[in-house]
Amino acid sequence: MSRPTLARGHGRHYLFPIMTLTLDLTSAQTRAALGANARTPEKPSLVGLSREEMAKALAVAGIPERQRRMRVQQLWHWLYVRGVSDFSQMFNISKDLRSELDRHFTVARPEVVEEQISNDGTRKWLFRFPPRGAGRPVEVETVYIPEEGRGTLCISSQVGCTLTCSFCHTGTQKLVRNLTAEEILAQLLTARDRLGDFPERDTPDGAIVPAEGRKVSNIVMMGMGEPLYNFENVKKALLIASDGDGLSLSKRRITLSTSGVVPEIARTGEEIGVMLAISLHAVRDDLRDAGADQQEVSA
Ligand code: SF4
Repeated sequence: MSRPTLARGHGRHYLFPIMTLTLDLTSAQTRAALGANARTPEKPSLVGLSREEMAKALAVAGIPERQRRMRVQQLWHWLYVRGVSDFSQMFNISKDLRSELDRHFTVARPEVVEEQISNDGTRKWLFRFPPRGAGRPVEVETVYIPEEGRGTLCISSQVGCTLTCSFCHTGTQKLVRNLTAEEILAQLLTARDRLGDFPERDTPDGAIVPAEGRKVSNIVMMGMGEPLYNFENVKKALLIASDGDGLSLSKRRITLSTSGVVPEIARTGEEIGVMLAISLHAVRDDLRDAGADQQEVSA
């Protein structure tokens, strides 16, 4: 008999009936069908690796040392200039090597769970990333705000947050985990896909985007999470986003927004060198502290 239960999903609760499904596991046919549907282990992504890390990954895949530098350059171009998300489209790489790369790695985008578009052209996406190992899939929000002379992408750095700023919805959610450099960059790459912001791509009919230049001209680390509590991954992603041979965003057009993690601010200047925005949501220290309490995070 069906009975109602409570299921969780993206911060909301749904009531739905549970039905019972019985499988005959004594049958070899059923076992074979289950095996075919079992999820294959996740392949590591090449997105978000530094050039040195990518060369090391290629070594593991058996690419000879004398070729690695050139292969890294080719891959970097396909990933970050052309915005390719499938090895089969990397036409200056031999077919055999493309399938070898595909056997070992992925360059796929996250799943787009939801896309909301408002009348002023603002877009909000909900992206789902695969578990990448032992965890479970996670979902994050990314927002695009088009204006007259620029298009700003608001990127998440964590799933949930350790802080509880009183004005912020994410502050009501516990930290699930830090996003990897790949997942931070994937938000930018996928947003550019959806906006037709790579060479030879079309912008969707009716999309509101800046009249000239890049559709995503600026990025702000101001989505879910406190970027300075995920320093290493944010640093890696922003250095790749500003790399002149790839995505090539000017560091003056990248803003890292922090609630004020003071010990990491000098490091941000020295090691990343982007613009910094500090949220001062009250005029006095005691009020600020009350507005941005640290949650207790269970391990
Ligand atoms: S640090 Fe940012 S994401 Fe976290 S609770 Fe404060 S405003 Fe929200």
